[in-house]
Amino acid sequence: MSPKRSGMKKRTFLKTSSMLMAGSLLAPLVSCNSSSQKEKAVRTNWAGNLEYSTENLHLPKSVEELQQMVKDCDKARALGTRHCFNTIADSNDNQISVQHLNQVVSLDEQASTVTIEAGMSYGQLCPYLHERGFALHNLASLPHISVAGACATATHGSGMRNGNLATVVTALEFIDANGALITLSRKTDPEKFRGAVVNLGGLGVLTKLTLAIQPAFQMRQDVYQFLPLSQLEENFEEIMSSGYSVSLFTDWQTDKVNQVWIKRRIEENDTEKAAPTFFGASLATKNIHPIVELSAENCTEQMGVPGPWHERLPHFRMNFTPSSGKELQTEYFVPRQHAVEAIRAVSQLKDQLGPLLMISEIRAIDADDFWMSPCYQQPCIAIHFTCEQNKELLQQVMPMIEQALQPYEARPHWGKMFAMSPTRLQSLYQKLPDFKALLMEYDPQGKFRNDFMQHYIFSSET
Ligand SMILES: Cc1cc2nc3c(=O)[nH]c(=O)nc-3n(C[C@H](O)[C@H](O)[C@H](O)COP(=O)(O)OP(=O)(O)OC[C@H]3O[C@@H](n4cnc5c(N)ncnc54)[C@H](O)[C@@H]3O)c2cc1C
Repeated sequence: MSPKRSGMKKRTFLKTSSMLMAGSLLAPLVSCNSSSQKEKAVRTNWAGNLEYSTENLHLPKSVEELQQMVKDCDKARALGTRHCFNTIADSNDNQISVQHLNQVVSLDEQASTVTIEAGMSYGQLCPYLHERGFALHNLASLPHISVAGACATATHGSGMRNGNLATVVTALEFIDANGALITLSRKTDPEKFRGAVVNLGGLGVLTKLTLAIQPAFQMRQDVYQFLPLSQLEENFEEIMSSGYSVSLFTDWQTDKVNQVWIKRRIEENDTEKAAPTFFGASLATKNIHPIVELSAENCTEQMGVPGPWHERLPHFRMNFTPSSGKELQTEYFVPRQHAVEAIRAVSQLKDQLGPLLMISEIRAIDADDFWMSPCYQQPCIAIHFTCEQNKELLQQVMPMIEQALQPYEARPHWGKMFAMSPTRLQSLYQKLPDFKALLMEYDPQGKFRNDFMQHYIFSSET
């Protein structure tokens, strides 16, 4: 990365912070009916690349109010914490956020489950669980996203044996298009449940989720720099299995992977020193940011310092609360048996990626049984790209990435940018007909069907 590019990123970072302070994204809320409250509302997504197509944001304070709202609206779409980069959460008519419904409903220690209201974020839930001696199995790179929104798009962390974040959902409650309160659980409705958890926001408005939990655990995080690509290709399984959760960060510009983040589960008071080298990579001697030129102050503690699961699994700290960031993300899932070939194929695009890419991250995700999950019945790796906010350039480069990964049946992340045609996307999901039937059952008139759903799920155009 040239000093010029790194300077540009620092400027972007500073600009983002000042936008936050100025609160320049605030816009007036327009009511759709009498039950809406007049409040100030942010009308863009987190990255600021998308202005939502409606001014109507509804913020119910109770389930009853929400039910009435859904009945009153002809068209509506649930909105979470706005972290998707594409139009999956958008609506031309009404968005409904359950951000005020954000309490823990119950903690069942016997069953090892927690039931939460759907407006809760991981940042709110994790400390609650940890204080009571419990943990979730995995987390995404940052904790500020809502649990409902994350599960809807099959958001994932990393780990060869860790399924995506939705895999710990055991039951959910939502309001369907008639305003009726529906509960589905893995135990009582196994078939529908597999279609309903990764729901792309199409099923209705989620009000509650029950999640499987486990005893709280300690972790340490060690970072290595400059892993030779040849080592990665020869030892992929071993490298990705070297911790509970492993992330590779690279800009593809050399024959080395820039950083390997290894997150290990440990016993209390683990003081073992990390090995100085790892498959030819060297142990970092201080905390570093995935983009090495940026300050690591917002990153979770590294250098092998033991800490609780929720302060090591995400890359970024809970108390760092970015409410917008000038970047664009795209990501593709490839079945794990093609991991090495897929990485090699992307590395061929280094010149095209160079001017656009801030950093790539490669993670492992275990298989699951959710119809619309990119990891449906297949363990995957995900190759992620954090890019400069240059939509035109990204739109030129994404088809190249998709073409390079096409032989491996790559599926895009539902919440990030992609260029794939609906026909191609639909052909990658064998359970799509069942998913459409499930949506039709709870939403026969398409009340919750936005343009994204119409285009990618229901259309038959190319
Ligand atoms: C900085 C950053 C880091 C990220 N890191 C990761 C990562 O590590 N791993 C990863 O896989 N992804 C990652 N993502 C992507 C992100 O996790 C997903 O886009 C996720 O869906 C965001 O959830 P949200 O609530 O913010 O989404 P929103 O954009 O608000 O909504 C997402 C979807 O969920 C639906 N939805 C939200 N709430 C409800 C509800 N109550 N009822 C029904 N449907 C609902 C919406 O309709 C929409 O379809 C990241 C994104 C950003 C911006």
